Amino acid sequence: MPELPEVQTITTDLNKYLKGFTVEKVILSPWYRTNMESGLFLQAIEGTRVENVHRIAKNIVMGLENELYVAVHLAMTGQLLLIKESAPIHKWERARFILTKDGKTQTLRFNDMRMFGKLQLLNLAQYKELKNKYGPEPLEEALTPQTLLENLQSKKTNIKNALLDQKLVAGLGNIYATDALFMSKIHPETKTQHLTLEKAKTLLDNARLILKEGIQNRGSTLADKMYVDVLGREGNQQNFFRIYGKSTCPTCKNKVEFKKLNGRGTYFCPQCQS
Ligand SMILES: [Zn+2]
Repeated sequence: MPELPEVQTITTDLNKYLKGFTVEKVILSPWYRTNMESGLFLQAIEGTRVENVHRIAKNIVMGLENELYVAVHLAMTGQLLLIKESAPIHKWERARFILTKDGKTQTLRFNDMRMFGKLQLLNLAQYKELKNKYGPEPLEEALTPQTLLENLQSKKTNIKNALLDQKLVAGLGNIYATDALFMSKIHPETKTQHLTLEKAKTLLDNARLILKEGIQNRGSTLADKMYVDVLGREGNQQNFFRIYGKSTCPTCKNKVEFKKLNGRGTYFCPQCQS
């Protein structure tokens, strides 16, 4: 599932390619449902200009004029791709946006195999609601170790589960949380109640480091090739995973343990993480 670095990569590129373009036409698959009746969805969007594309947690948001927002959540198998207008309809294509600016055309396709993704049109109130659903952004300076500690401890669970809870801290998913815990020498099953301020600071520093590195490497593409950027290119961060997907600990050379925590595959070194 795309996490903050993958979503940021897509967002940055879409902002570069689509800012200032006008949505000329939107084509929805006949049976695909957004958050509103299809006719109203198209009517509201067609003819409006894209002011910017930005990210809220793992949502990619196209800010349109007139305080309207198109929010896309990729979930498990969603993809946003800039393709040729003439490209045939892909079997997982759910929506296609045709945008123009100064005689140039861009065609954005939303594919989603398993359809856990979301395509929504929001007004300003709904947009604010979306923002309020999420905890602080880890890369924003405003998030202090103290706030992170308080947020994580507000949920009585293990640290790995808490990090994945988007209400406590936004943007982290299974891979980056797994690596950040390893880098911080924190066992993923540590109860949040036992986390110290010092550990929270180390964790925040490492989460920031690994997320920034992930953005620099344009995200991580796993064997399923599900994540690609808007031009269909794979990311690079999979070549720099610290412990995710590994069988031997890179620090102590002992065997890495693999365990499902809340259904999510978690890798950790019982020697190095306590
Ligand atoms: Zn180790």
